[in-house]
Amino acid sequence: MPINAVKGTHDLFAAEADGYAYIQNLFRAVAKQYGYRQIETPILEHTEVFTRSTGEASDVVRKEMYTFLDKANRSVTLRPEGTAGVIRSIVEHKLYATSDLPLKVFYAGPVFRYERPQLGRYRQFIQAGVEAVGVDSPRLDAECIALAMRALAYLGFKNLSVKVNTLGDAESRLAYKEALKAYFADKIDGMCEDCHQRLLLNPMRILDCKVPEDQEIAKGAPKMKDYLSLEASKRFYETLSIINDLGIEYEIDDGLVRGLDYYGHIVFEVHAKSATGKDYGALLGGGHYDGMLKEFGGPEEIDHGVGFACGVERIYSLMRDNEMLEGIDDGLDIYAMPLGAEVEQELNVLCENIRDLGYSVEMPMKGGKLGSMFKKAERSGAKFALILGSDELERGVVQLKNLESKTQEEVRIDDLPAYLDREFGEGEGECDHDHGDGHCCHDRDENEEEGHHCYHHHHHEEE
Ligand code: AMP
Repeated sequence: MPINAVKGTHDLFAAEADGYAYIQNLFRAVAKQYGYRQIETPILEHTEVFTRSTGEASDVVRKEMYTFLDKANRSVTLRPEGTAGVIRSIVEHKLYATSDLPLKVFYAGPVFRYERPQLGRYRQFIQAGVEAVGVDSPRLDAECIALAMRALAYLGFKNLSVKVNTLGDAESRLAYKEALKAYFADKIDGMCEDCHQRLLLNPMRILDCKVPEDQEIAKGAPKMKDYLSLEASKRFYETLSIINDLGIEYEIDDGLVRGLDYYGHIVFEVHAKSATGKDYGALLGGGHYDGMLKEFGGPEEIDHGVGFACGVERIYSLMRDNEMLEGIDDGLDIYAMPLGAEVEQELNVLCENIRDLGYSVEMPMKGGKLGSMFKKAERSGAKFALILGSDELERGVVQLKNLESKTQEEVRIDDLPAYLDREFGEGEGECDHDHGDGHCCHDRDENEEEGHHCYHHHHHEEE
């Protein structure tokens, strides 16, 4: 019997793995533009980290966690989301005391949820996200949304609009929950078992129920907006006005409550259509939260935060369906071919020199017939094949064949740096605008008209 990957998990390799890295690095680079620093917390946490913060009433904590006893009988959990571990870490290391506030962090990594695997839904998936902690400010909330939308725009998503809602302050939510309890009291008998639980623990969760009949009943439920305190309502409109000033399109969706318990004030989600008509669910979601630091013993005065997480699988699937991946997986720059064993050693050294210039180049471990080496060059996606034989070596030249235009030129080895600079766009090798993966996207500029957005190009324009 062959052994396969665990249900709901997936292996990543080749173009897909490159694409995932690209998406994460892009979010990281955009977060950096807003002053966010990287944070990495363990995948494994004490179960309490999530029961205390993510919320006992949430589906994620009630039903979806990978929780088990370790060998010393401690209950541990594979993180089902990023925020709780980040806040645990911030409090544990008192990062709020040694950094200016807001403390802004970016993370990316695998999370685990025991959900029914289906389109856009995995049991292990990758989330990239940010948290900004320690300041209670509509501008910070708006900035978080701007960051998310900028990253999606740089990935090439167009005409996206973000759905927003407010969950108000504690006072508003209390009043709203009472109203929901009253509304559902005589309807709950006909609803699913989970909703019975939700009514007891947190009736707002009922609005997220996926059972169609329950959704129908929930449609008639009272709306949060009618239970907002004056303060909470003012705050919502202030946040929206900032978002508006930043040129971000939004829609108010008063059914949006989000799955985790700690949200208050603004919450948001971004959805996008696939060209194939598939629905992968929300690309990204987040919101403002209060009172989370306290759960880990942190100071109450600064107990505010805002953040979002995006699903890298869903973003990748949409980019693939909408043909937005072209030009992301650049492939090799150069495939080097030795004509005869006697030049292999020299070519090997030349390859290393070319890498010093910042280009990617590969040569076969074993030379062979020119035709078969050309096939390998084509498969590698290289822009150029570089050919060196003993005649070339003697004359200090190489043959460079452009594999796209099929034209071939003889180039002096000494002239290679200038030649490659010209061919690949000025100074690719020296570009210090790094995507974080060692790639510069100068060579993607040409793709802009086709709908690809080079965000460094964009960045240069703004400077
Ligand atoms: P959440 O933490 O539930 O707000 O989810 C944030 C984002 O993670 C969602 O918008 C999705 O893009 C992604 N996501 C959530 N659950 C899954 C899943 N089971 N499989 C893949 N992506 C998911």
